[in-house]
Amino acid sequence: MPTSLPPQTQSEVLSDAQAMALALEQARQAASLGEVPVGAVLLDADGRLLSVGANRTVCDHDPTQHAEIVALRAATRKVGNYRLPGASLFVTLEPCMMCLGALMHARLSRVVWAAADPKTGVCGSVESLHLHPTLNHHTRVTGGLMADEAAQALRDFFRQRRELKKLQKQGQQGQSLVDGAP
Ligand SMILES: [Zn+2]
Repeated sequence: MPTSLPPQTQSEVLSDAQAMALALEQARQAASLGEVPVGAVLLDADGRLLSVGANRTVCDHDPTQHAEIVALRAATRKVGNYRLPGASLFVTLEPCMMCLGALMHARLSRVVWAAADPKTGVCGSVESLHLHPTLNHHTRVTGGLMADEAAQALRDFFRQRRELKKLQKQGQQGQSLVDGAP
């Protein structure tokens, strides 16, 4: 299920900062479901909201359900076209190769990301596929917009997850003592 759109912003022309703020809101929603907090927002060629997406890989048992893909699927279905020329995508984490590939196939004019991803980011971190001359004729990619907020959301999520795992482990050890198990 695509994430529902916030109705108050559907007809407004959004600035880059407003679009990324919406993407951050999506990231926070993902975290509340136990998903790695990544959110995405797609704007049409006029800068109006087309769709939003949040990372849903765990909930959907689907490794392709990154925020960018969720937003892209919602937008292409809404428009009735597998290409979205002129559209812009805002995402809180540097795209991976799957997502960058999909965004290029959709012929977006612009991709703007927030925090760098040193593990799977291919827009400057692990690779710079967005600059490859034979891969990219259509999509301009820029990074670093509201990077601190996006990176903080990720750090908070992983810290909370580590703390939870530690507590669970301590609980299991306590239970072992009660049961007399080693
Ligand atoms: Zn991805």
